[in-house]
Amino acid sequence: MPLVPMKQVLDEALKARYGVGAYNVNNMEQIQAIMQAASQTQSPVIVQASRGALKYSSMLYLKKLMEAAVELNPTLPIVLHLDHGNSLATVKEAIALGFTSVMIDGSLKEDGKTPTTYAENAAVTKSVVDHAHQFGVTVEGEIGRLGGIEDGVGSGKALLTDPAEAEKFVKETGVDALALAIGTSHGAYKFKAEPKLAMDIVSEVRKRLPKTPLVMHGSSSVPQALVDIINKFGGKMPDTKGVPIAQIQEGIRRGVAKINVDTDGRLAITGAIRKVLAESPEKFDPRDYLGPARETLAAVIKQRMIDFGTAGHAADYKPASLANMKKIYSA
Ligand SMILES: [Zn+2]
Repeated sequence: MPLVPMKQVLDEALKARYGVGAYNVNNMEQIQAIMQAASQTQSPVIVQASRGALKYSSMLYLKKLMEAAVELNPTLPIVLHLDHGNSLATVKEAIALGFTSVMIDGSLKEDGKTPTTYAENAAVTKSVVDHAHQFGVTVEGEIGRLGGIEDGVGSGKALLTDPAEAEKFVKETGVDALALAIGTSHGAYKFKAEPKLAMDIVSEVRKRLPKTPLVMHGSSSVPQALVDIINKFGGKMPDTKGVPIAQIQEGIRRGVAKINVDTDGRLAITGAIRKVLAESPEKFDPRDYLGPARETLAAVIKQRMIDFGTAGHAADYKPASLANMKKIYSA
């Protein structure tokens, strides 16, 4: 099966009350680790690339690696999603390359730093929806502003989502999925203590928009064990806390269908590489440390697929094609 649009994957998750992780990729080992986890747990999966990833890998390399992932896993629903698209031009580029889903982050201006007004956000989001839906491509929008900075994206000024504004935004723009700001934060240095997320916002938005899958960004758990491995083998990461799995599960119960996980993967890879290089300083073959990094990442993602309830849902439905979605959108 070819890459599938994200809308159906999230609608099905929302109906059956599980979450689908969206895992960031920049290179071959990350894609392989995600696909290994998805295959072993029989999970639908969202593979996402940020603008930073596209710049790092050059878009065509990522596209061809994703084609390999699809060819090797023909029975899994796999979505290729653009994370934090900053403009209609970026979105157009991604869709031309074969992305089946895009996020437009209209909470910030094109520079990925300056906050926008509601009207500016709604206008750019609507223009992306109008373009993407012609191709059957799913659109995720964002209302409110996330905290933290990742891949150079972020204003540093968080603003929690206003549920009434969220309802208006979805009705005005026609987005398929909505990222909420409920107190999560991008990056590894999220919280000093266990965070209290504004779960009542999730419930209130869900009440107003019962059919719109909601998205949690900045939702890595930053497990202490992964940080400890990095520090044990020469790293210097300060004490930090992520979003506990139990709070993500609570979000899923209240209507969250997509959970973005990037930092935990970065921690897993870095810890594994540090460990090999510290324990075997004579090694110089990149496969000696990239291989274990890939294994460690696969194990972390596999556990998330179990924790979010994604495991076992790969064959629940016949995946829609972009052509199917085009018809639905134009009806
Ligand atoms: Zn994000």
